[in-house]
Amino acid sequence: MTGDNRPDEFEDGPAAPDEAQAGREQEARHERDTEAEIFESVRGADGGPVVPVRLKGADPFNFSCHRGISCWNQCCHGADVTLTPLDILRLSRNQNIRPAEFVARYTAPGIWETAGLPVPKLKMTGEDGKGACSFLHQENGCTVYADRPMTCRYYPLGLGAAKMKDSPEKMNFHFLVKESFCKGHDESKTQTVDAFRAEQGVAVYDDFNQGWIDILMKMASWKTLGGPQGKDVSIQGKKMFYLVSTDPDAFRAFVFKTRFLETYLIEPEAIERVKSDDETLLQLGFDWLKNVFFNEPTIALRPEVLQQAVAATRERMGGS
Ligand code: SF4
Ligand code: SF4
Repeated sequence: MTGDNRPDEFEDGPAAPDEAQAGREQEARHERDTEAEIFESVRGADGGPVVPVRLKGADPFNFSCHRGISCWNQCCHGADVTLTPLDILRLSRNQNIRPAEFVARYTAPGIWETAGLPVPKLKMTGEDGKGACSFLHQENGCTVYADRPMTCRYYPLGLGAAKMKDSPEKMNFHFLVKESFCKGHDESKTQTVDAFRAEQGVAVYDDFNQGWIDILMKMASWKTLGGPQGKDVSIQGKKMFYLVSTDPDAFRAFVFKTRFLETYLIEPEAIERVKSDDETLLQLGFDWLKNVFFNEPTIALRPEVLQQAVAATRERMGGS
């Protein structure tokens, strides 16, 4: 790794396109139907059962969480909380530090097994990681409530996504996570999934993280074949996914201090925006990763780079 946290392979900028990308287009036909749980619960595998029923927006469920309930804060101990890119931006601003520092202080690297990609997890206290969340105050509850992570907002709902191979779009769905320690399910309050989502303010997270979740889903779909082109994503590719997910400053350095802007055609106004706007920068990062991993047309090569790549491919194949 370089000093600014960039994987060595990307030190000089993105790799030039080659015939492997053409191969990816061909292999895209082999993509499988995929269904995956993005966020199952805030607890680990020792939590209670997931109720395997898909819920639609208008479906009602019984649940209420409030101060004074006998299980108050139990879900914030030993919790398994995957942090999305928007969680990291918001929580780091909440703590008045940059994302890289937030990630170093408050997270530990984990793996989203379904896709085999690295994701940051919120660190719990205690030697065994089963203690309270660092942001939990025993009496006042969550001290970062306004910026609490997406997983915490969704709980006790899980978020899943399904992607059919013949459809470009994936479909989100929800399911109820019933864990024995959580007494909220015994309360009398009933609400629909839509009403709960609105109350928890998850729409903005769904929208912002869409590109990131798309990458996880698509990689999950490829996993049964061993990855795009039947190969696992390289270690450097995984590092870049983690870097885009967790460290906008390092990704910004990658964009501006390597051959990135000589390789890709980015509108001048967008270049100006990503100099200071982390949200826009991350959307560029998701688009770039989709192009690198899956050859999606989410970011365009400069015409001269494309011509060079075509010429080089022809030469390798013995054409004129
Ligand atoms: S961030 Fe807040 S809601 Fe989430 S586990 Fe920590 S204390 Fe609980
Ligand atoms: S009701 Fe469930 S979500 Fe609320 S504090 Fe208790 S365990 Fe946590």
